[in-house]
Amino acid sequence: MARRVREYSYEELLDRAYSKLPSKPVDGETFEPPKAEVMIVGGKTIILNFAKIADILNRDPKILQRYYMKELGAPAFLGESGQLIIQGRFGPHIINRLLEMFVKKYVICPTCGSRFTVLKKVGKVFILKCQACGAETTLEAF
Ligand SMILES: [Zn+2]
Repeated sequence: MARRVREYSYEELLDRAYSKLPSKPVDGETFEPPKAEVMIVGGKTIILNFAKIADILNRDPKILQRYYMKELGAPAFLGESGQLIIQGRFGPHIINRLLEMFVKKYVICPTCGSRFTVLKKVGKVFILKCQACGAETTLEAF
């Protein structure tokens, strides 16, 4: 009886140990792009966590900045603490929708679905090179 009690508590300890392990990060299709924290001040839209988003996506903030300027048709500049300041009022919905589209087109490999890719500008095009499967995709540059 005493032994059975001991075994039970050992299992309990194991359960407790396993439940403390962090869950593994998931890649590919289940990758959730970061959400933009948007603030509208006067006639300007500010993406507060812009530098962090670019970092998570492993993209040059300047490329992401140009993308927003092109899609919104509005001037934008990088703030000193890594935020993006866009001229005009744009809600969080449109900012995040554009971010999702950016991730789908300029981050995720269309061949294997990996997000571990590199984007290079070559002449007038972008080359999206996948670090997982090696595929190269040519995209229209901006
Ligand atoms: Zn790939």
